[in-house]
Amino acid sequence: MNVTEIIIVGGGLSGLFTAFNLQELNIPYLLLEAKSSFGGRIAGCKTSLGSDMSIDLGPTWFWPHQEMIKQVLTQLQVGWFEQYCKGDALYQKHSDAIPTRIRNSAGEITSCRVRGGLQQLILALAEQLEQSNIKTEYAVTGVRKSSDKWLIKTVHRDEEQTLSANQLILAIPPRLIVKYLTPEQYMSEKLTNDLQAQQTWMSGQAKFIATYNNPFWRENGLAGQAFSQVGPMVEIHDASSDTESNFALFGFIGLQSDVRSQLSIDQLKSQCIQQLGAIFGSEALDAEISYLKDWAQDKWVATDLDVMESPRHATFPMLQHKKELESLRLYLAASEFAQFEAGYLEGALLASDTAVKAVKACS
Ligand SMILES: Cc1cc2nc3c(=O)[nH]c(=O)nc-3n(C[C@H](O)[C@H](O)[C@H](O)COP(=O)(O)OP(=O)(O)OC[C@H]3O[C@@H](n4cnc5c(N)ncnc54)[C@H](O)[C@@H]3O)c2cc1C
Repeated sequence: MNVTEIIIVGGGLSGLFTAFNLQELNIPYLLLEAKSSFGGRIAGCKTSLGSDMSIDLGPTWFWPHQEMIKQVLTQLQVGWFEQYCKGDALYQKHSDAIPTRIRNSAGEITSCRVRGGLQQLILALAEQLEQSNIKTEYAVTGVRKSSDKWLIKTVHRDEEQTLSANQLILAIPPRLIVKYLTPEQYMSEKLTNDLQAQQTWMSGQAKFIATYNNPFWRENGLAGQAFSQVGPMVEIHDASSDTESNFALFGFIGLQSDVRSQLSIDQLKSQCIQQLGAIFGSEALDAEISYLKDWAQDKWVATDLDVMESPRHATFPMLQHKKELESLRLYLAASEFAQFEAGYLEGALLASDTAVKAVKACS
């Protein structure tokens, strides 16, 4: 059996950035991603609206204090722009009342978006990598250690295979390690319990996006931002591109995942459109295209526990497990392992950077 120096499990932002940095260091690696495309929680949509249109079904924003993502975007020549927030916000308290207008509540620029959607960052990273080293549709279904080697069981289009590596980098959320990677074979109970305690950020959420051929809300002095106690969406924002051509609104759906799962995608989309109409007026009923992604239904992101809990950030005690991880030659690179900005895009880059530095220090 061929032994790869490093196997990376997971091809989201943290996995791809890990691969990118290992490649720069000339350290051999193989990246395994379960889905048919890279990106993980970063998911875009192909549209007929042109390449500047960003349909971000997962994350939308990064924030000005997050230095690493700005640095990586600059290095990969991926552009960004400020979230549109000029004008008033709206507050929908009752379904039968006109929404209250909140003057300039959106205020100063507080967040940034990637031009063409965050998927552009994933594409730019994947493009830099040696294609034979990054594999999609390779689900890791079990891991064990045999003397000093890692044995990694994969399923690729129904075919099982066991791969071997000297070192293992896990770029998947902590609870997915417990769910898929048989930690009882090689980890202490304490480490397994601490992994299980970390919620995967935003994994229980669902997002709705509707595109429009004109930004009627902007023309009415509105920022596109709205808050609602009526639902199904609880928070709405402008999701337009930064050109003067493609316009959109997006919202986070506030219904619990068990309630959502009783509705068809079309029923939920229709309720979201009706709500946009009630908040922004009848023009909002004429959406061109609408999209909905329920992350709670994605088995490569959410676990049953994530979906049941209220949202909270991970606080993984990395230092407490340093010795065990070092002796296993096991590195944890997903966003939830970051010691700052855990759960965010910035966290994914920081955790990956820490993992690569640890690999470098041991080689
Ligand atoms: C709706 C939503 C909104 C968000 N909004 C923001 C935002 O505005 N700003 C922000 O900073 N962050 C936001 N986030 C969080 C952000 O998306 C994450 O921090 C980031 O994408 C995490 O990247 P990652 O690579 O660490 O993990 P992931 O993106 O989860 O990647 C893990 C990868 O591993 C793969 N995988 C899992 N199990 C296996 C297995 N057994 N075998 C092989 N592959 C496997 C998965 O398919 C996935 O591709 C949001 C997330 C969601 C869902």
